[in-house]
Amino acid sequence: MISNQRQLEKDYPLLFAVARSSESVERHQARVITMTYEGEGPIEHSLYLAGKGITYDTGGADLKTGGHMAGMSRDKGGAATVVGFMKMLAAIQPKGIKVVAEVGAVRNSIGSNAFVADEIITSRAGVRVRIGNTDAEGRLVLCDVLTHLKELAAEDDKAEFFSVATLTGHAARAVGPYTALVENGVARAKNSAQQLSVAGDLWADPAEISRSRREDFDFVKPRTKADDILSSNNAASAVTARGHQFPMAFLQLASGLNDTQYAYTHVDIAGSGVEGGDWQHGKPTAAGLMMLAGRYLI
Ligand SMILES: [Zn+2]
Repeated sequence: MISNQRQLEKDYPLLFAVARSSESVERHQARVITMTYEGEGPIEHSLYLAGKGITYDTGGADLKTGGHMAGMSRDKGGAATVVGFMKMLAAIQPKGIKVVAEVGAVRNSIGSNAFVADEIITSRAGVRVRIGNTDAEGRLVLCDVLTHLKELAAEDDKAEFFSVATLTGHAARAVGPYTALVENGVARAKNSAQQLSVAGDLWADPAEISRSRREDFDFVKPRTKADDILSSNNAASAVTARGHQFPMAFLQLASGLNDTQYAYTHVDIAGSGVEGGDWQHGKPTAAGLMMLAGRYLI
C-alpha cells in the first residue's frame, strides 16, 4: 500500500490531482492498495484488475449541486468488487489463476487546493491530459492504476485487463439496473465481454455489452497542441451521447494500454452497484463479483 502523498503525486499524477484537496485532512488522504494472488499449477488465466475507490465524491470544484451529492459515499463500489474478488480467491484458493489487483482509494474533495477544469496533467504513461470536468474523476484514478498494472504485467502474454467502477450516470441511464461492459479491440477479438456476460447471466450478475466506436476516440481527441487528450466534456454523462462508452477510449489512450496487445474490458457498475439504483438508501450489490467468479473460477 502506498500512503506517502509525495510518492503518489510523483507516481500517480492523475490520481493525485483528484486527491489534492483532501491531503490537508489526514483521514481523507489517498491510498493505492495492491493485492496479488497466484494459484498452484500452470497459470491459465492472468487477470489485472483496477478498482475505482472514490471514498466520497463531492464532484470537486465542479461541485455536485441540486442534491446530487447524496449517496456519493457509494462511489467506491468498483474497488469493493475488486477487493471482494481477492477475498474470494483467498478463501477458495483456486488453481491455475493469477490475479493482480490495484485499488485507488481517493476522496474527491473541494477546497482551495482543488484541481480544476483546464489543468493539463501528464499521466503516469506520459500522456498530457486536459481536465474537462473535475466530477469525471474516476477515470483519472483508474488511468494511472491501469498504467502501473501494465508495467507489472511486463511480458505476461496471458494478461487480461479490467477496470471496475461506478463510473458514469450514463451507464445507469442506458442499461441500469445492469452492468455495462465496454471492451477494446483485442478483448472483442477474444470474445471477452461476451463470455463475461454469459457467466453473469448464469450467476445472477448480468451485464450488457456496449461497443466501443470511433466516435468515442474522436470525443476525447486533443483540441490544442498543449494536450494529448481531453478527460471529459463538461456536461453530466447522463445527458452526453455515448457517455459510458467514450470513457473506455480515454482510459485506453491515457493509460498507455492502447500501445499494447492486451485485452481490456471496462466494467461500469454505476447502474448495477446499488439496489434499485438508489445510491442514497439502496443496499450495495457487489455487482461484477459473481460475473468475474463465474467466468474465471468455475
Ligand atoms: Zn464524480
